[in-house]
Amino acid sequence: MRVTPFAHGFVATLLFSCLIVFVVSADATEAAGWKAGTAVVNVTPTEPMWMAGYASRTKPSEGTALDLFCKAAALEDEHGARVVIVTCDLIGIPRDLRNSLEQLVAEKYKLAPERLLLNASHTHCGPEFRLSKRDALPSFGDKEKQAAAYGERLREQLLKLVGDALADLKPAQLTFVRARCGFAMNRRTPSGDGYKNNPWSEGPVDQEVPVLKIAGADGKLRAVLFGYACHNTTLSFYQFCGDYAGYAQQYLEEKHPGVTAHFVMGCGGDQNPYPRGELELARHHGKTLGIAVEAALLSSPQMELKGSLGASLVQAKLDFAPPPPKDILERQTKSPNKYEAQHAQRLLDELAATGTIATTYDAPVQALQFGDALTLVAFPGETVVDFSLRAKRDFAAGKTAVWVAGYSNDVFAYIPSKRVLLEGGYEAGGAMLFGRFPGPFSVDVEERIVGAASQAVKAARDAVTAANTAGPTRAK
Ligand SMILES: [Zn+2]
Repeated sequence: MRVTPFAHGFVATLLFSCLIVFVVSADATEAAGWKAGTAVVNVTPTEPMWMAGYASRTKPSEGTALDLFCKAAALEDEHGARVVIVTCDLIGIPRDLRNSLEQLVAEKYKLAPERLLLNASHTHCGPEFRLSKRDALPSFGDKEKQAAAYGERLREQLLKLVGDALADLKPAQLTFVRARCGFAMNRRTPSGDGYKNNPWSEGPVDQEVPVLKIAGADGKLRAVLFGYACHNTTLSFYQFCGDYAGYAQQYLEEKHPGVTAHFVMGCGGDQNPYPRGELELARHHGKTLGIAVEAALLSSPQMELKGSLGASLVQAKLDFAPPPPKDILERQTKSPNKYEAQHAQRLLDELAATGTIATTYDAPVQALQFGDALTLVAFPGETVVDFSLRAKRDFAAGKTAVWVAGYSNDVFAYIPSKRVLLEGGYEAGGAMLFGRFPGPFSVDVEERIVGAASQAVKAARDAVTAANTAGPTRAK
């Protein structure tokens, strides 16, 4: 082909541009120095089980609408520091599961507890494997061995899952992006007779969709971790199903073959998906959230994560209001409200077994720091949305984005903000009837939780600063 001088110049410019693009992108990948790995395990029960989430269910499960999965994302910085984020299509993370798993993971993979984050989607269409619920379900006693066996198998599956994700570590690029999604609505409607569980369009919400995009060294998408602050309760039927969070993951994985999608539950304690009650709506909400994740992937700013990974885990010391005296508890065991009667009996059993009723609880609050670009705060329990809004306000620093997860590491009770606690209602203390704690939290519960988060964020950020100024870079 005859090439004119103009074309010569054009081709040369083109080649030069390509060279620059190649050099810049290769350099960015090297500079960031991340590795990432993922793993997935199907945790759908193979036989009917009692289901978690609604005390009013009267029989075990009947089939599966959508399989339940646990997924792990392992991340490693250029110094070799790691974190593993495990997300589960399950009701919650019981404390004993967290404790035993973190010990096993530390022994087997040398991963410190603050570097393991466990998060549950809080689907109400998964198995009930929490033995603390043994007296809250009719004839659950018959199924206790089955629940215990499921829990033990789950621990083994999660231990292997963490190892599989670590074994999959490969050079990666990490980017943080955000979008919005609108089906979450506040569910605490004020009325003359207290707060009712109803959609309340005026109430606080956090409809942000935070997304961690994991691409290979070639820039090709490998995984997305995405969050949303909304109860995963479109459904209340008798089939196993990951609800909207499950369908959002399914949508993304079908749309992007080979990519794993990991749902991270936010502070949705007082948020519900609306409308709700039908399988088609769960699918619809899932698709809507999946599309929001795709919108996030296109959005600006695209914050490329660079630098080191810091992590910290701090125990928040929480107090409960003192329990009623023994004679009142004995009277309550005859209450026509069966949940009040069961709650009183649980406290009396604890008193008989230990000589006291515990009025304190240590709740884990975790922070992960990605260079100077992103702080991930993971709250325990069913935190209400005020925690998400406050943490993003309190922990914003310069150009650092804040991602807030709830339902992490120990999902032991609703955790109300001071506002919700003083307003009263289900999330403020009413739900305590379904648990093993004596009564509402003390009025400073929000300050204790946020105080622990503040310590964790500072420690995680200090760890990043220390790693940036010292320590050898891992061998390439
Ligand atoms: Zn809940």
